[in-house]
Amino acid sequence: MRLFKNGSIVSEDSPEPKRGDVLVDEKGIIQQVAETIEGADGTRTVDCSGCVLVPGMFDLNVHSREPGFEHKETLASCAEAAIHGGVTGLVLMPDMAPPVDSGNLVKSLQDLVSEVSPISMYVSGCLTKQRRGEELAGFSGMASRGAVMLTDADHEVPCPDLLRRCMEYAKDFDLLVTTHGDTPALTKAGAINEGAVSYRLGLPGIPAISQEIALERDMRVAQHTGARLHLQQVSTANGVKSIASAKEEGINVTCEVSPYHLLLTEEDVEDYNTHFKLDPPLRRQSDCDALVQGLIDGTIDAIASNHAPHTEFEKSSDFATAPFGVSGLETTVLAIFDHFISREVFGWDLFIKKYSADPRRIVKLEPVKIATGEKSQFFVFDPNGMTTISRDYLKTKSPVSPFLGKTLKGEIRETVV
Ligand SMILES: [Zn+2]
Repeated sequence: MRLFKNGSIVSEDSPEPKRGDVLVDEKGIIQQVAETIEGADGTRTVDCSGCVLVPGMFDLNVHSREPGFEHKETLASCAEAAIHGGVTGLVLMPDMAPPVDSGNLVKSLQDLVSEVSPISMYVSGCLTKQRRGEELAGFSGMASRGAVMLTDADHEVPCPDLLRRCMEYAKDFDLLVTTHGDTPALTKAGAINEGAVSYRLGLPGIPAISQEIALERDMRVAQHTGARLHLQQVSTANGVKSIASAKEEGINVTCEVSPYHLLLTEEDVEDYNTHFKLDPPLRRQSDCDALVQGLIDGTIDAIASNHAPHTEFEKSSDFATAPFGVSGLETTVLAIFDHFISREVFGWDLFIKKYSADPRRIVKLEPVKIATGEKSQFFVFDPNGMTTISRDYLKTKSPVSPFLGKTLKGEIRETVV
């Protein structure tokens, strides 16, 4: 038995932490939650004074890189990074090699996950074969194997008619369709948000309309077909506006935002540092403000890290040619705490709703709770601690992050899972 003593429990239902001791048995089941519990003989007590106990987070957008790109990340290192960051469940994007586009590949990835991962990793499948945007992937096989969503990850389905057929089939199988929102004809070889900074740095720009047009199109196709749609990595103020009005119209759409797009801008791209090269790119302060507002008013349903590791070597090429994406599983909780919760922009309740409970609901899972009889999935967080994001701190195989070298408020002491 382990007794987590003298801490407070936070949840999506309450803005204020509530005093609570938590007793966990050998099987990891929460035996008791009460204001005070006295430890019996043989109970190991973990002093949680000054700390909060937080339900395990759930990340809807994770690229594990295995199978196929194990030099960047493996399922085991991905799981280790997740646990280190307070994330106890996640959805794997299907952009491995080979891409997960059939029931058999869903099954073999599920088998691999159950061998190596101590946390729940749910498998998504592709919308189109090989993510090539040419023909439908094997929907019925993937549905019967339990894929939780279908997406071509950061590839947009280029043909609206093919996307329409994807959504029609997805609706028949009650599968969630997830898109990344990009118009390749506008994005071209862009590397950074198009605007003052891209001109100053002499880098090819990606205009905001590249994402805005794509998500508008995807939502109209969802409206036409009645499919459930989830939009990844919303990054602009106009995007938030479109989604709000689509929801008002009754379109069945949810969306997510990354921690980076909430709190960093194109102005933060220092000295051509490729750790700030993201897809979609960092935008402007007015976009950040609209995204935070959208998160608070409910237009934005979830936070997702878009954990997309590339090795330091791959990231060390010049800004224009370096790959998009960074490792995010270990810094999301800390970055959001440092920037928003500790500054009282919003509280733990909203954060837990957006990064733990609602992401699970989007893929039809039950939210996790710190309550008697539940499996333990929580982490001990010290709001008075400080964490320096160093290469050593990060457990991912690819320690690449815009927060590298920064010290953030708060400290994740331990994740119990
Ligand atoms: Zn992604």
